[in-house]
Amino acid sequence: MGFRSAPQLKSSAQIAKLREANLIVAEVLDEVGAMVAPGVSTWELELKARAVMERAGASSAFLGYAPGGSVPPFPAVLCTSRNEVIVHGIPSKEDVLQEGDILSVDFGCFKDGWCGDSARTFPVGKIDDEAARLLEATEQGLARAIEQMVVGNRLGDVSSAVQTHVERRGFSVVRQFVGHGIGRARHESPQVPNYGRAGRGTPLNRGLVVAIEPMVNVGVPDVEILDDRWTAVTRDRKLSAHFEHSVAVTDDGPLVLSRP
Ligand code: MG
Ligand code: MG
Repeated sequence: MGFRSAPQLKSSAQIAKLREANLIVAEVLDEVGAMVAPGVSTWELELKARAVMERAGASSAFLGYAPGGSVPPFPAVLCTSRNEVIVHGIPSKEDVLQEGDILSVDFGCFKDGWCGDSARTFPVGKIDDEAARLLEATEQGLARAIEQMVVGNRLGDVSSAVQTHVERRGFSVVRQFVGHGIGRARHESPQVPNYGRAGRGTPLNRGLVVAIEPMVNVGVPDVEILDDRWTAVTRDRKLSAHFEHSVAVTDDGPLVLSRP
C-alpha cells in the first residue's frame, strides 16, 4: 500500500473496526497522560502503555517497526518526545520528566487487524506561557483541520487549515513529517501534510480515513535526526508539540475515531 495509490475508502463496518482500535489508543493515552509528572521516566510510561495494550488484546503498531529496513527497528510501543524532540523519541529510564517540560506521546496499535493512531502533548507540572500557547495552537490547528473533513472538500483544505491557524499564532509547521491514511496498514495513501493550499488535492469522499497530525515548532520548522536514527529534534532546539487524531469522513461529517 503505497502513499501514491488512490486512497482506499472504508465501509461503515470497517470504520467501526477502526473505531475499536482507536478507542484502545485513547485509553492508553488517557492512562499514560494521567501518569505524566515531574520525576517520572518515559520508560515507566512505556510499561503502562504495554500493560493497557495487552489488557485490551491489541498489538503495537510501533514496536519493531523498521520502514524500508533503513533504520533499526523501533524499540518501544510509545514514542515519547520531550521539549525539542518533535516525534519518534524513544522511552528510556534515563529520560526523566522535569517540571516545566512538555511531552508528546504517540501511540499506535492493531486490534483485529485494524490500526489506531493518535498523539497528545502533555504539560509536565506548570509550564511557561510560550509552551502553553504552543500546545493550544497545535491542538486548535488539529481541531480546525478536523472541521474540514467533510464530503466535497479536498485534502488541501485540511492541510491549509492547520498551517493558517498555526502560522497566525506565530509558530511554524514541520514539513518533513506528515499525516497519513490509515486502515489495515499503519500508513496508507494519502499523505496529509500540515501545509498546503485550500481547494487542492485529493477529494474527500465518504469512507476516507486519515490520521491528521500537526507537528508545530516555536522556532524554525527544520528537523534534525539524532544518532539513534529515530529521534527527530528541532534544528534550533526550541520546543515542538504534536497532536494527532484518526478521523473518518462520513455522511454526518467528521468522525474522530480516537476521541474517547
Ligand atoms: Mg501517531
Ligand atoms: Mg500517525
